[in-house]
Amino acid sequence: MEGNQGDQLRKGKFYCVAAEQKAYTLVGFRTEWKKMRMKYTLAVCMLVLSLFSPVVAQQIVLRGTVVTPDDVIQDGFVAIQQGKIVGVGPYADRPRGMQAVATHSIIYPGLIDLHDHITWNLFPRWRENVQFSTRYQWQQVTSYGIALSTPHAQLFQDGFGCQSNRFGEVKAIVGGATSVVGSLGPSKPDSSDNQCIMGLARNLDFYSGFYGTTVNMEKLRYEVFPMQVSLEQVNQIKADLNSGKLTSYIVHLAEGNTTDANAAREFNMFQAQGFLRPGVSIIHGVALGRAQFRQLATNSVGLIWSPRSNVELYGVTTDVAAAKQEGVKIAISPDWSPSGSDGLLQELKYAATWNAGQYPPVFGDAELVKMATSVPAELARLDDKIGSIKTGLYADLLLVKQSDANPYKTLLHANPAEIRLVMINGTPVYGDADLMSALRPSQQLQPVNICGSAKSLFIEPVPGVPTLWSQVTEMLSAELNRWGTSLSVLTQCEGTNLH
Ligand SMILES: [Zn+2]
Repeated sequence: MEGNQGDQLRKGKFYCVAAEQKAYTLVGFRTEWKKMRMKYTLAVCMLVLSLFSPVVAQQIVLRGTVVTPDDVIQDGFVAIQQGKIVGVGPYADRPRGMQAVATHSIIYPGLIDLHDHITWNLFPRWRENVQFSTRYQWQQVTSYGIALSTPHAQLFQDGFGCQSNRFGEVKAIVGGATSVVGSLGPSKPDSSDNQCIMGLARNLDFYSGFYGTTVNMEKLRYEVFPMQVSLEQVNQIKADLNSGKLTSYIVHLAEGNTTDANAAREFNMFQAQGFLRPGVSIIHGVALGRAQFRQLATNSVGLIWSPRSNVELYGVTTDVAAAKQEGVKIAISPDWSPSGSDGLLQELKYAATWNAGQYPPVFGDAELVKMATSVPAELARLDDKIGSIKTGLYADLLLVKQSDANPYKTLLHANPAEIRLVMINGTPVYGDADLMSALRPSQQLQPVNICGSAKSLFIEPVPGVPTLWSQVTEMLSAELNRWGTSLSVLTQCEGTNLH
């Protein structure tokens, strides 16, 4: 995209953002006519932008150390065309005739977060100086209501669901994720009002981008309270798993202290419902023991581990050593940032620190990296699309500055400021300002400061949420202040991660 076309596009983007900004300021008047005008303005903007698409080079070669993640290719390349990986190997074997960019980075598959609560990640950390026995206990305490659940409900009531989701997605991307679970669902009757979850990270439970451009066509179902699912729904979910309409069912289960009998009993109830079957993954499982892990492995049920949130709330985490010995496939995810990590990169560092304190360590470095890339892709049954760097998969990539001779250690110990680039579907969405402007010269990039490092963010306009990042944060800050709390940082910085 060069010359006049690039200029036109730039002008188009500015027009859109300016019109959108104006439209959002009109929302306060709350008249139907003005709401309609806002929707019309945004629709015109989307049309104008679509006329200028595609907006970035459709093909590019990235040069760097490539972690596939099974293998490491020193001085390698990843060739990308129309959102997909079309070649990978030593740089000497790169396809000729494609523009090559030397990234001076390590190139990993984008991180896949199978356990999060995206719209809650705008809240500051929540710490009580008590160790709870189960999730049901802390959800009942008064301070949880004041600090989290009441302001969260009010935010939604006041119409800030899309903004909350946008903040959570950006936060996840700043932590290296390209796919997340636990985003805002399609809560509004008008389907065009639910499009605000498009355009940034892949939301694997509601809009991944793999099944056309309609929200809520996914084959992955995420359950926070599986014991509250009605019998009718239980039967429907099993039927959908049988027919292939659903390929992955991910549920919170047995979250509590290792000695909590009630949390452990959830496993028996879930088993009695007939859910120990391939395609199912259990989040947490802190209260489970070796016998249950054996049953998970026998029935090809996965486990999603969130150590930081477990330790902060219950003082212990899942017996992943026993789970691994029994042959359970284990992925890692941050849960949410109030009690877990700000993102997956930060959770990996937490897990690496925890792991180094075990005797002997439970996981190897490469294994931990796979637990955030290829393993969650397998558990989500999306390993034919994401989770690895190989020809034919979508170009979801994470580039990090090399800090250790061992590229696996580099990722495990990286700080968010060391992320060079996050690419989703072949589109650079976030990264170092210099690399982003090299890859997206004609685009309107938005500045974000991460721990003193100048980063850029590119956000495709979608209806229902302002494109301007500063506008999203200002709106959320003002709303949260009304409820006596403040907007969380995107990430805690170096040296403060474990506090
Ligand atoms: Zn959770």
